[in-house]
Amino acid sequence: MFDDLRDLYQEVILDHGKNPRNFRRPENATCLAHGNNPVCGDTLVIYITLDDDGLITDAAFQGQGCAISVASASMMTDIVNGKTVDAAKRLFDGFHHMCTKDDFDMAELGDCDEDALERLVMLSGVKEFPIRVKCATLAWHTMQAAVSGDHDISTE
Ligand code: ZN
Repeated sequence: MFDDLRDLYQEVILDHGKNPRNFRRPENATCLAHGNNPVCGDTLVIYITLDDDGLITDAAFQGQGCAISVASASMMTDIVNGKTVDAAKRLFDGFHHMCTKDDFDMAELGDCDEDALERLVMLSGVKEFPIRVKCATLAWHTMQAAVSGDHDISTE
């Protein structure tokens, strides 16, 4: 990655970390889950509101953690809003692959939201720091737990 691109990515991550989007507790969330990453001390609550068709009409979070976990939760809630649960899970698959695999190919994912994946590429730099992968994926694991009816997840 070019240095100036890397700086841009860090800026975006820092911005989301400092000014998280959707940092609130919605009144009418239909699903929620607690996510815990004991390695780093990140704890998040993810709130998802689903309509009758399985469409995510609201996504929000609260909690505390390192800049990466908060930035990831901020981006995740932004990205999944308005998507179906299936589409959100596919994006998580894609994001997880890009954080853990060297030979990730976006084309393999099929009909994923490419704009969303491109935004997530910013966070996939954590691949070089395996311990940070848990920080970056915590919000996504927790979102998946929430929509699957599990209420607590831990990265341990
Ligand atoms: Zn963390």
